[in-house]
Formats: sequence, structure tokens, C-alpha cells
Amino acid sequence: MTEDAVTQLFGEELCNLASDNRLRELPRLSDHNATTVTVRGRPCLLLCSNNYLGIANHPSIREAAAAAVLEYGCSASASRLVSGNLDLYRALESAIAVFMSKEDALVFSSGYAANMGIIQSVAQDNDVILSDELNHASIVDGCRLSRAHKLIFRHNDVGDLEHKLSGCRGYRTRLIVVEGVYSLDGDCAPLAEIAELARQYECMLMVDEAHAVGVLGETGRGASQLHGVSDYVDIIVGTMGKAFGSYGAFVACSAQLKQYLVNKARSMIYTTALPPAVLAASLPAIDIVQSEPWRRRDTLEKADYMRSGLLELGFDLGAGTKHIIPVILGETEQTMRLSVLLLEQGVFVQPIRPPSVLQGKSRLRVTVNAKHTYEQLDTALVTFRKARDRIRAPSRVTGGA
Ligand code: PMP
Repeated sequence: MTEDAVTQLFGEELCNLASDNRLRELPRLSDHNATTVTVRGRPCLLLCSNNYLGIANHPSIREAAAAAVLEYGCSASASRLVSGNLDLYRALESAIAVFMSKEDALVFSSGYAANMGIIQSVAQDNDVILSDELNHASIVDGCRLSRAHKLIFRHNDVGDLEHKLSGCRGYRTRLIVVEGVYSLDGDCAPLAEIAELARQYECMLMVDEAHAVGVLGETGRGASQLHGVSDYVDIIVGTMGKAFGSYGAFVACSAQLKQYLVNKARSMIYTTALPPAVLAASLPAIDIVQSEPWRRRDTLEKADYMRSGLLELGFDLGAGTKHIIPVILGETEQTMRLSVLLLEQGVFVQPIRPPSVLQGKSRLRVTVNAKHTYEQLDTALVTFRKARDRIRAPSRVTGGA
């Protein structure tokens, strides 16, 4: 293709995105910590990170990462099955298995890689996957990669799931996939009912606890623990890059499934092992999650405070009750404008637009963490009120996820 033809090809699509208010741009950030961030040189209150327990900058985590760099260097330099499987993996997987109270655990490079690799290898030709319509892109992409038949059930609709299950008895494996806490809506899956259906219809149950692990449940094992069904979930996925303040992801499962995934999960087999610093950082993170339960409590209490304040301002916050608070405006242009107005007043919260959410469901995704002070949340609420009062005059803006 000529250079001109290529430029025209991408240019047209970028123009289409811009005229649709869907052009994404990477924000320029510095001085990042649990509650503040500098956006293009402007110090802001940070209300959109997944550092739910506020531990990403914790001294023990930083020190562990730094010590690992000094001991091992910066790279694992090969995939796990070649020469990248450092002893740190063993330590981390044992710690995760104990923490999650499962027989074993397997670490993946990211939650995205975990979902892709697990779904693709567990659900094969003669199998069927039943997936919630609001599942994360990484689950959707795992389903796309899998050769299994796919059935999408209405969000959190147990009746629809049962209806679909009753029609698929002929398959070898039936895999139900849901999220513990939905990433853009903040609501929990009805896990007790879903686990009961999985039992009744002899299905495998996979729960992506990316946004719940560390935050929900008595000891932080996630929504499965909160709903009392951890023992009935066959595959629990968790990420280390959110509440745990590190990076990477895991599946907590049986030792046999781990062995199967080591042999089948392409996103684990064909990728370089995680850097030693990342593995080392995750170890103290698990200790902190276990030994400092007050962080979970604080996160949820502060999220409740913020939710009440936003509700009083008249915003539609959907059905969630946890630490992810969607401020649903519907129209993309209005959502973008609200985010820009907030940023101008020193509050950084990103708009989420189609295709990340359905058309007409654009929103700001507000997240609160254990380190936010009530003063900061009050400031945010005042800023939300002022910005809300000004969004009546529409204008075109870009940026966001
Ligand atoms: N699952 C869910 C529900 C997510 O929201 C995300 C990322 N936001 C992932 C998986 C992917 O995790 P990671 O960022 O570790 O790739």
C-alpha cells in the first residue's frame, strides 16, 4: 500500500471517531499517588484509579520490588516454560493459593492474558460458554478465541441464564463466566443463585474477581467469599494490578486445572515471564491485604459516602453498591463535557464511552479508595455540583477510555 493510501485509511477512521465523540487519547500524567495525580501539569484529585486499598505506593511493596531488581535484574528474559520461571513464581503462587483457600494458583502476565488463556483452553469444540452480557473485554476476547459455542445471557439475569442452560444439555463442558463486581457498573453478580445453577446443571463456574479481590469478603477473597460460594467456584481469576497495587494476575483453582493450563493456555505459554520486581512486589501486597482489613472497610465506607453525595446531587448511579460508582449520563458528549469541567476544577475522573459501554450508557467511572480523605471527597462533590450546573452548553471534546 502507498503511504498516502495508509494515511487515508487510518485518517478516515480517526475522523469518524472524532466526529462521533469517540476519539481516545492517552492522558499525560505524573506525580501519581493514591489520591492525587498531576494531569498535564495540573495537580488533581484522583478519582479513577483501581488502587482500591491505596497500597500501590506502600513502602513494603516498593522495597520488595527494588530488592528484586538488585537481586535478579529487570527481566525474566524468557517464558516460564523455558528459563523464566524464577523461584519467586513458586513463592507467589503458594501465597495466592493459601490466601484464596484453593488447592493451587497459576500466575499470568495480566488479567487480560488470564481470561484469554483460561477461556480458550477450558472451553473447546464441543463445549458451550454462557457469558454475562456485561463481561469485560478480556472475557469477550477469550470467548472469541475459544472454539466453543457461545451464549450471552442478560446482565445478572438468573432466569435468562437458566433458560439458556436448559437448552444446552448436549455439550461436554458448560462454562458459566461472570464477574464478581462488574468493572464499569460496580454491581455484584448474584453469585449464590448462579453457583446453585452451576451445581444443578453440572457446569463449571468461572468468576473474574479483578475488581473484588482484596476489597470484598471477610478476608478479601472477593465477591465469591462475600456471597459464601468460594468453594463452589471452579475458576477464580484475580488481578494484582488493582487492589494489590502491583501487576499481573492469577487463577486460583485445583492443582489439576493448573497443570492443564500450563499445558494449554497459550497466553501463558507463549509470553515472557513477569519481571522479578513485579512478582516480588505482589508478595507483601498479599500480606497487607490479609493483615490490614481496615483498608477494605475504609474503601467501602468512603465509597458509600461518595455514592450518597452523588445521589443527593441527582446523578444516576445504576445498581451498584460497592467501590466502583458509575455516574451515568447517557449521552457521550455530555459525559465528556462533565469530565472536562471536573478536570478544569482539579478533579480527574475519566469518561467511559461506547464501545466500552453500550450506546446511550456513557458514564464517568468514579472509584474511591481507602486513602481518600473525607475532605477530598467533599471537595469532589462540590466540584461535581458546580460542573453539573454548567454542562447545559454542549461542546465537542476528546480524550478518555
Ligand atoms: N477483568 C476485568 C473485569 C477487568 O476490569 C480487567 C481490567 N480492567 C481485566 C480483567 C484485565 O486485567 P489486567 O488489567 O490485569 O489485564
